[in-house]
Amino acid sequence: MSQLVVQKYGGSSLADADRIRHVARRIARERAAGADLCVVVSAMGDTTDHLLDLAARITDEPDPREMDLLLATGEHMSGTLVAMALQAIGVPAISLTGAQAGIRTDSTHGRARIANVDPIRVRDEIAAGKVVIVAGFQGATDESHRTGEVTTLGRGGSDTTAVALAARLQADRCEIYTDVEGIFTTDPRVVPEARLIPVIGYEEMLELAHQGAQVMQTRAVELGWVNGVVIAVRSTFSDHPGTLIQEADPMEIRDKVRGLALDRKVAKVTLVGVPDRPGIARAVFDPLAEAGVNIDLIVQNVGHAGATDLSFTVPDVDLAKARRLLDPIVRELGFADMTTDSAVAKVSVIGAGIGNTPGYAARMFGALADAGVNIEMISTSEIRITCIIAEDQVEDAARALHAAFRLEEPETTDSGARLAS
Ligand code: ASP
Ligand code: MG
Repeated sequence: MSQLVVQKYGGSSLADADRIRHVARRIARERAAGADLCVVVSAMGDTTDHLLDLAARITDEPDPREMDLLLATGEHMSGTLVAMALQAIGVPAISLTGAQAGIRTDSTHGRARIANVDPIRVRDEIAAGKVVIVAGFQGATDESHRTGEVTTLGRGGSDTTAVALAARLQADRCEIYTDVEGIFTTDPRVVPEARLIPVIGYEEMLELAHQGAQVMQTRAVELGWVNGVVIAVRSTFSDHPGTLIQEADPMEIRDKVRGLALDRKVAKVTLVGVPDRPGIARAVFDPLAEAGVNIDLIVQNVGHAGATDLSFTVPDVDLAKARRLLDPIVRELGFADMTTDSAVAKVSVIGAGIGNTPGYAARMFGALADAGVNIEMISTSEIRITCIIAEDQVEDAARALHAAFRLEEPETTDSGARLAS
């Protein structure tokens, strides 16, 4: 029996007619090698941004239902063109909308979740000898009263469409094609020595993505993890094997820094002179949670004379909202002051097992000290150590940490021992 391959092509891989023809040739090559293919596409280039912009010119408050129907057209456009490009070189192909491909979601317009995948049509078309192109990033509701309302899965959602289809179709391979060769130890634009990571565990990949590496939608990684889908991240423009995201191999990966994530889009809020008594943290964080503001790092100091300082980080874009929500609380509860700083950044070293091994934190702080970088906040998890630093020092910090953890060197099984020496 032939292999079933799910491929996903990102917007930059489909940005114009030439690139679409290039993608069609890649698909044709895979098919000539004997594979059956289900290909998920993103919208061409910046199409989604343009559609959002268009709607914003019409109204400040677009109807979420109409918005989803509008955004879904981006992927219809690229899907049909890829199908035509394949037909033009003699490959039987058909494009399907997300709904036609059986992607069923809840009814949360703009960030719907996949409830089920019912790919009867995909299977039938493949059995009929066709390459099936599926419009990514979208599905349709399955609720009896309003069946078939088109929904979208949130920015970057085509990755999730691909992994969901790979899981349900029990694909032999799931490949995410993009404009970089894979997942790197850190952003190569900041640190030229950054190295491609050949294999990374789901948990490490999720942490990298959460801490700022923008390669794949995190939901896609989660879905891959839950369903045991091995995900290859590869370049559309080369034959490099790329990065495999899969279950971590405990023998090789334990106690090794895998990557370094940088996030400039964070801001710090400090509440000064907060009364040291039960209920204060709830009074501060409840309203933020209700307003959907994501709190990341939280640091509270030891109290002195009945008061303490409380600092936390929020995404840059939510800073104004956080200030607005907290202003009355600061006054009501009698805090001394609230200060905010959006010129901070987050650097995180990530790797299975490092967060509870003392040598790594010491090495991180030492490298930052040697580079003259002041650490404003620290947080750790089992697989991560994060520092908040001044935003204008993020590049110095990245280079220093990349060197300190020897991330430019190929991975070996004795890296833990080497680090300790
Ligand atoms: N076109 C959508 C976006 O730009 C979905 C995707 O590319 O995955 O977010
Ligand atoms: Mg993307």
